[in-house]
Amino acid sequence: MNLVKILDLRLKELHKVMFNSIHPIPALQDNYIWAITNQQGTELAVVDPGDPAPVIQLAEQLGLRLSHILITHHHKDHTGGLASLEKYSRPKVIGPRSNKIRGITEYVADGDTFHLFGVELTVIGVPGHTLDHIAFAAMNCTKPVLFCGDTLFAGGCGRLFEGHPQMMSESLSKLSSLDDHTKVYCTHEYTLSNLAFATAANPNNKMLRARLAAEQEKRNLGRPTLPSTIRLELDTNPFLRCKDVDIIEVLKKRTEVPLETPVEVFGALRSWKDNF
Ligand code: ZN
Ligand code: FE
Repeated sequence: MNLVKILDLRLKELHKVMFNSIHPIPALQDNYIWAITNQQGTELAVVDPGDPAPVIQLAEQLGLRLSHILITHHHKDHTGGLASLEKYSRPKVIGPRSNKIRGITEYVADGDTFHLFGVELTVIGVPGHTLDHIAFAAMNCTKPVLFCGDTLFAGGCGRLFEGHPQMMSESLSKLSSLDDHTKVYCTHEYTLSNLAFATAANPNNKMLRARLAAEQEKRNLGRPTLPSTIRLELDTNPFLRCKDVDIIEVLKKRTEVPLETPVEVFGALRSWKDNF
């Protein structure tokens, strides 16, 4: 690391440009609504509230005002709480321009930046799971974080409901090129089933086996496996490892489709996972 970067990091440490806390609110079947608080401990922001009840419960319990909602894409398990929460506290609702979402008050798109509790968030367009999907990344801060909805999962990625493999690979590359230490907050607890697939697709990956054991342990203790980190995903998530010869060898035995390019490998992996 060069001196300028070290000084820059020190400066950020001094000013503590970061969120006060980020906690999961378990919701619906296997969703997490991420709850972010400001430094003063007075305001609350949530990401993808599929259900209003646990959000209101948390706000009341902690005496916080729900001031912001971030939305990544239109699916009901990410937006189902919007109508009730808007009535509850009139929060700012920041999300993509999409005719399938009602209640966004501030539209954002790829490349936009805005501040939440003093932390700059950059919007990253990540179509593939849906066409309107966006992610929110805090990059210029002490502890970088990424809220990526159903695009990048711990050990996996979202299904291609509206996009195609090329589009989703490009979206995943944008996310995987973020700083290694970036904490990854996705919306579902799918990690163990993702890693079961990952192990089948990438059987000789030792880091993956170690991860599977570690995540299994967390689930045994009833703890979330999230957040992950970009580094951990690069090392163990098959959808970010489309040049891995071990994965390509396994796929070759299963499919006749060409596997010449990383996008073709990605497509073959995704359709295998769809039926796994
Ligand atoms: Zn979704
Ligand atoms: Fe979802």
